[in-house]
Amino acid sequence: MRLTDEHSAFRASVRAFVESEINPRADEWEAAGIFPAHELFPKAAALGLFGLEYDEEFGGEGADHSFQMIAAEELGRCDSGGVSMAIGVQSMMATPSLARFGSPELKQAYLVPALAGHRVGAIAVTEPDTGSDVARLRTRARRDGDDWVITGRKTYITNGTQADWLCLLVRTSDEGGYRGMSQVIVPTDSPGFSVAKKLDKLGNRSSDTAELVLDEVRVPVTNTIGEIGRGFQQQMMQFVIERMFVAYSSVGSCDRALERTRAYIAEREVFGQPLATKQYVTFRLAELQAQVELLRNHNAAVCEAYMAGDDIIRGASVAKLTAGRLVREVADTCIQFYGGMGYMEETWTARFLRDTRLGSIGGGADEVMLQVLARLDGMPA
Ligand SMILES: Cc1cc2nc3c(=O)[nH]c(=O)nc-3n(C[C@H](O)[C@H](O)[C@H](O)COP(=O)(O)OP(=O)(O)OC[C@H]3O[C@@H](n4cnc5c(N)ncnc54)[C@H](O)[C@@H]3O)c2cc1C
Repeated sequence: MRLTDEHSAFRASVRAFVESEINPRADEWEAAGIFPAHELFPKAAALGLFGLEYDEEFGGEGADHSFQMIAAEELGRCDSGGVSMAIGVQSMMATPSLARFGSPELKQAYLVPALAGHRVGAIAVTEPDTGSDVARLRTRARRDGDDWVITGRKTYITNGTQADWLCLLVRTSDEGGYRGMSQVIVPTDSPGFSVAKKLDKLGNRSSDTAELVLDEVRVPVTNTIGEIGRGFQQQMMQFVIERMFVAYSSVGSCDRALERTRAYIAEREVFGQPLATKQYVTFRLAELQAQVELLRNHNAAVCEAYMAGDDIIRGASVAKLTAGRLVREVADTCIQFYGGMGYMEETWTARFLRDTRLGSIGGGADEVMLQVLARLDGMPA
């Protein structure tokens, strides 16, 4: 893909935003176990970060997906993975279905304030009993006149304590399996909604991840995104975009980690010489940088295919699987070459190792990506 001066200027503006608005406060937010989404999101919105691809009529930028790729790559350079993940939830995980399938009234009520950064969204799919196997989810919406009355539990929900609304995947009939689910917008100030607990995590600690309870929560049926009963299919499409966020942002994360490690080995002396004189060390970093280049190029190809309207399930699954594994390998190698310093909490490598571990689990574990790919290869996965 040929990137233009416009892409470069946009990249520079996102990088400046990360360096001025996020990184200086990352330590504070990590220690607090939360970042102030309602304070940060309007600033991100001023750059258009939440609505790059969406209609201008609803506050979007009307740009194409390549700008989304650039934004995610740059967000990968955050000093705290939790903040970039939370922004990614708002831009590429909780809003794509709403923007694509939502009624004009629903978009006006929920998409417009989300794109302006005034309201925080969350995507609520995972439940205590089921994550990978989405077809087994149990949260149920019963129809009562013009309302849904919803009961169930969701867990590991990013932005969970701060969200103003959820894009909830819920069962709206008893058909079972992947049939009879719908995506419904649930405002979190609805009676019966509560945050059971904010969860303590290995990494992404600046992000508030929560377990949520819905106890007879009543919302209008008109809050259904798209067609009633098509929620599973719509969520699968939304997952594809989510997986590309992981793949795009991993490129930025890996680039920055490798840049920092190259700078460190140039300074650090071992056996009377800079570590950078050891061929094993430089070859290993060069090898990883080469793999990042392959992922970047693959991502760009998927991005182009998506813009052309092609099915990108295979490309996105390859990208997510590769990204999840590569970023872990980069994190492990960087900590190794920093030695004892890398193991210290004061060095970026420690948080990076913890944050990046999520890539192979969240949004579809590696094995789920392999299951998709095996099926596409004609195997009985
Ligand atoms: C920090 C964090 C943030 C998250 N944010 C959100 C969010 O905002 N919204 C949301 O809905 N969810 C969110 N999740 C949930 C996340 O998407 C799930 O954790 C993930 O999909 C895996 O589901 P699970 O945890 O139930 O694991 P399980 O489904 O129990 O799977 C456990 C493990 O089994 C293996 N496995 C699974 N399927 C197969 C298979 N077919 N073949 C072989 N092995 C397999 C994998 O190794 C997997 O890691 C978040 C999770 C975390 C940790």
